[in-house]
Amino acid sequence: MKSFFDLEKIHPPYKSEKGVHSCVSCGLYKDVLSPKIKPYGDCKKKIMVIGEAPGETEDRRAKPWQGKAGRALQRRYKQLGADLFEDCVNINAVNCRPTDKKGNNRTPTEFEIACCKRKVISAIKQYKPEIIILHGGIPTTSIIGDRWKRNLGGIMKWRGWAIPDRLFNAWICPTFHPSFIERQEKEGDSEVVWDQDLKHAFSKIDEPFPQYRDEEECVEIITDQKEAAQLLIQINKMKPPLLAFDIETTGLRPYNREVHKIVCVSFCWQEDKAYAIPFPTEKRPLSLLKRILENPKIGKIAANMKYEDTWFNILHEIHIHPWKFDTMQAAHILDNRPGITSLKFQAYVHFGLVGYDGAVSQYLQGSDSNLPNRITELLENRSSFNELLLYNGMDSLVTFRLAKMQMREMGISW
Ligand code: URA
Repeated sequence: MKSFFDLEKIHPPYKSEKGVHSCVSCGLYKDVLSPKIKPYGDCKKKIMVIGEAPGETEDRRAKPWQGKAGRALQRRYKQLGADLFEDCVNINAVNCRPTDKKGNNRTPTEFEIACCKRKVISAIKQYKPEIIILHGGIPTTSIIGDRWKRNLGGIMKWRGWAIPDRLFNAWICPTFHPSFIERQEKEGDSEVVWDQDLKHAFSKIDEPFPQYRDEEECVEIITDQKEAAQLLIQINKMKPPLLAFDIETTGLRPYNREVHKIVCVSFCWQEDKAYAIPFPTEKRPLSLLKRILENPKIGKIAANMKYEDTWFNILHEIHIHPWKFDTMQAAHILDNRPGITSLKFQAYVHFGLVGYDGAVSQYLQGSDSNLPNRITELLENRSSFNELLLYNGMDSLVTFRLAKMQMREMGISW
């Protein structure tokens, strides 16, 4: 995994298939009154506010947030106890005014956002904010987009979280752009939601940034068959009341029994330790696994339990019992927005953990849910199999941590 907490190492990708990302290739600076507007504000409360792009007034005055949207933002921040220009430093995702052919403001393109990202990153390095508020989808694309390999989605999915982002060592708080609020009907509820989001962001001012232990160090990979069997015996003896587990498989659906198999399995029953083993093929360790999964004293946890339930049921006639908790269902109960229940999304927004599937994700995707994926390619050598086991262990670790956090939030104790 990449090293965290090292701002010196952060740099945006300077190139894409569309070309080099630089001011020269962007070119917006050539036709504006104020090219490359500098960050503005005293940053007394260590808050960085990132907007979309300068408009006409900002371009004239060479400062962010000077027009109608900026005034609305200044008022709202004041009401919440923060001065936009004294307590915060302000920058835009794109720092030259983008205009259309008629000279009106327009939304910046993804390429312009990418070109300006090095300015944004260098401002983060310079000011070292503790909170970074993203107003709208454009700064969310700039700050999160290239680390979020999946479909980024819109601001509705990201707003309201206070993400303990390990790369920037800061709370990242996406919310609406003030112009969006202005455009809403007066009686709409977006303004109330905006207020809540901002209060949530400001509540982080005095909250120490969480210190995480490197999760990779928390995963023990056991490939020796005897030691793996010992682990299964240990779990059977201990009977942890809550056990998170996870499997990696040759596809999404197990119904073609000739083709499909479970490749590895991992377990976690304490927040800082998980184990991953190759899936047992011998009769005895398999029966030890069955005893764990069917033991009434061991409450099972998964992220999307119907997946594990189906694979064990169809391929091994193991009837998992009792199911105690599913982080996916809990995520949906706690917040019913679409696109937020996956383990990867929850791992990022709650624990700042992103991209731990980088080495293996391409092998786990199949073209069709009934057809095999490319996981067997990872079994061909020891180091790629270890990557898979590590990923598998991380999934159980995060599932357990997330489940505990969700239980606390829901007032559930076991
Ligand atoms: N809108 C933005 O996103 N930024 C500004 O600076 C002004 C308006």
